[in-house]
Amino acid sequence: MMASRRAVLAALAAGALAGCRRPASLASGGRIAAAAPAAGASRTPGTVPLAAPPAVPVLTRAQVVARYGHLRPHSWGFGGPGVIRDLHTSRRMIALTFDACGGPGGSGYDQALIGFLRRQEAPATLFLNSRWIDANPAVFLQLAREPLFEIASHGTRHLPLSVTGRSAYGIPGTRNAGEVYDEVGRNQAKLTRLLGVPPRWFRPGTGYCDDVAARIVTAMGERLVSFSVNGDGGATFTPGQVRSTVTAAPGGSIVICHMNHPDSGTARGIAAAVPRLMAAGYRFVRLSDELR
Ligand SMILES: [Zn+2]
Repeated sequence: MMASRRAVLAALAAGALAGCRRPASLASGGRIAAAAPAAGASRTPGTVPLAAPPAVPVLTRAQVVARYGHLRPHSWGFGGPGVIRDLHTSRRMIALTFDACGGPGGSGYDQALIGFLRRQEAPATLFLNSRWIDANPAVFLQLAREPLFEIASHGTRHLPLSVTGRSAYGIPGTRNAGEVYDEVGRNQAKLTRLLGVPPRWFRPGTGYCDDVAARIVTAMGERLVSFSVNGDGGATFTPGQVRSTVTAAPGGSIVICHMNHPDSGTARGIAAAVPRLMAAGYRFVRLSDELR
């Protein structure tokens, strides 16, 4: 955490983030770890100075393709091998998670929602897509500085994670193991560069993945996180629907909602649900508070 916060503060001082350039190492299919400059290496002005070289798994695109490119998937959906769907407890704790999907129509920022979480001191895990970070650089830096929030990865282009190009909600998925690597690895490299440490948790765009793609995520050093309660129906629920759904979440739930649609019912629904849950003895956790 300290290394992370130091890196963010350094980023603030350097006025970085605006570029959010794609690492040359990934553009050429090189090692993810090469995205971090070696200690003492000269840096281009404007790039984020890291507190220390991050412990990023050394796995090349070519290695991923060689190991997984010939495998055929057997499952498709929100589950799969190694996919986390709840906190593995029935105690009265809930992980609120908020996705920021980015892209056209998806790069808004729900300031009312985040402000409410701050006032209630309700921790949350924020799954951020590369495109959303690029559209909200100052907000990203602010959120990353706050221990109340844990930053996680929501992919690079917000694609369903498939090795065969399967679609979800009309969005074509990644088409092969190499594209899975790109979808996971580019946002991993971005967040590592910005935070100083790699993200622990990954949620695919749309939430869909196949079992081979899920294995690739694990091999790349991230844990794939789904959910047990769909709290805002993809930011389509009314405030009342969000309130009733989230309030009914049992202990150990991972609740998915969105923080990129300020015009949705999410903020008002969460603002109604959280005090009710607190009064009933529930507490809120970030994923890393409970999961290893
Ligand atoms: Zn999303």
